[in-house]
Order: sequence, then C-alpha cells, then structure tokens
Amino acid sequence: MAVTDEAPATTSWRVGAFTVTEVQEIPIAVGLLDGLIAQATPDVVLATDWMRPHYATETGQTVWDIHAFVIDDGANVVLVDPGCGNGKSLPLQPSWSDLDTPFLQRLEDAGYQREDVDLILLTHLHLDHIGWCTTKDADGRWVPTFPNARLVIVLEEYEHHLEQRDAPDDHTHDIVFEGSDPSLSRQLKLVWAETIQPMIDAGRVDFVSRNAEVLPGVSYQSTAGHTLGHHSIRIESEGESAFITGDFIHHPMQIAHPDWSSRNDWNVEESARSRRAFFEAAAGTDLLVLGTHFAGRSAGYIVPDGDGYRLVADKPA
Ligand SMILES: [Zn+2]
Repeated sequence: MAVTDEAPATTSWRVGAFTVTEVQEIPIAVGLLDGLIAQATPDVVLATDWMRPHYATETGQTVWDIHAFVIDDGANVVLVDPGCGNGKSLPLQPSWSDLDTPFLQRLEDAGYQREDVDLILLTHLHLDHIGWCTTKDADGRWVPTFPNARLVIVLEEYEHHLEQRDAPDDHTHDIVFEGSDPSLSRQLKLVWAETIQPMIDAGRVDFVSRNAEVLPGVSYQSTAGHTLGHHSIRIESEGESAFITGDFIHHPMQIAHPDWSSRNDWNVEESARSRRAFFEAAAGTDLLVLGTHFAGRSAGYIVPDGDGYRLVADKPA
C-alpha cells in the first residue's frame, strides 16, 4: 500500500499573499518506477533515514505520487502541472492510461470551480504534467477543461517536444516500463492530439521566453536537464518565497544525492548541474520547496546534510 493512500486529497501552504494548494491525482504504484534513478537501490534508500515514511517503503522501494498545485493570490488562480487527466491514451505508461479519477471534484473541494482557473503553467510537457488541460466532451472531442484559462508554455520546451514528436520512430524512450510501448514519438503524437493541439485550436496557448514572469510574484525559472526547456515555478510575495520543482528533482533521494539523475532525463549532466546549483542557493534559507512527485509530505526546506542535502519540515532557524 502506498503511503499516499493515507494522505489528504488537498494540503495548503501560505506564501506571503499567496495560498498554494496541492491537489492529488494518483499515487504511483510501488515498484512501477524502480530503477528510474538507477543508484537508488533499496539498501541505499533504507540507509537514508529521512526517506521513511513518506518517500520510501519499509523495504526501501521509492514512493511517488502525481499531484497538481494551485497558486492563488485572491485575484488570480494558477494551476500548475495538471496531471495525466482522465481517459488519455498513454501507451508509454499504460497504468496511467484511460484514468477515471475525481481530480476535478478534489479541485472543487479545495474551493476551485473549473471556471475559476485563469492560468495553467507546465514545468514541462511530459504526459503526467499536462493531461487535465483537456477533457472529452459529449461528442468525444478533446476540449479545454477550464473554460477561462490561458495555457502559458515556455517556447523552447514546446519546440523541443515538437521536434521529438516528429523524430523517426526509432527514437525510443530510454526506460521501458512493464507492458509499455516504448515509442516516444508515438506517445508524443498522442499527447499532442489529445491535449496540446486542442488547446492551440481553441486559441488558448500563450508562449513565453525562458525565466518569464507570468504574474507579479509568479515566474518560470529554468531548471533544464529533465527536458531541454524544463522550468520550475518560483513564487515570491511579501518577503516569502516558494518553488515548485517539476521533475528536475524527481524524487527526494536526489536531494540526498544531487548527482543521481533520472534515467529518463533528456540530459543527465545538465539535470545534475541544475540540482546542485539550486540546492547550493536554497540550503539553509526559508525557501519552501514543493515537490511535484513527492508523496505524503510534499513540501519542506533544504538543509545541508553530508555530501548532499535533506528536506526538513521546519524552516531553518
Ligand atoms: Zn513527471
């Protein structure tokens, strides 16, 4: 059983004038991502005492989940990384394909109707970060889920995925999950058809450059490596700040071991460089770090710990 089964569907944090709320989509089945961070073997995970209970099982398997965040300053509602979505075709990850989750109900329970969402931000264009942009209507067409929302995408990330989508089909994903179809190009074409193209056709997409500020106090910040144009989200308000990681920190084991990249990172060296630079700057500060796939307690503060770092619940003194 995943630890996240016991977690509440929503959790909130205060960052100056902003409220940041986590909205669950699904726990990731324990074992599904074993090997994704090759060095994170059960013995090493067990030796990292702060992994349990949230980020690892008692037998040292890593624990992950998929959730979105809502950033709200009372005037604007910003949805970040809206999960896999319902009813999507995900042959690269069949266990997340054709989902039927109450994500929109959870969003409503957190106080947000579909109409309330003004902006959608994506740390990157992978299938588990973008799905709820669209839903199927009564005629089976993919249409925007949030009737008033603009989708703000970093242009270089978009262009990179467009290139991969159109690459020859021998361009396969580096890691093959059980039962999955490893053709990255085929998967990208499906994500494009079901999620990205309907948003473009509806005239909802705005492109921004690297490190763009999208609202006063909410910015994209380049954390390249997992993908070419990967960006995290920085929130600044009234002297407080927070940072939504996206997948440049895929699992908290990479906080303890910043050089351990993920096997599906686009560029493993760049990914490690991004983590090192971020941890060096964040360590010992009051920056609230919100992990996109961190299960259970998904936020904390970075402090130095041996050769690496540690995520702690309380602000460093
Ligand atoms: Zn992801």
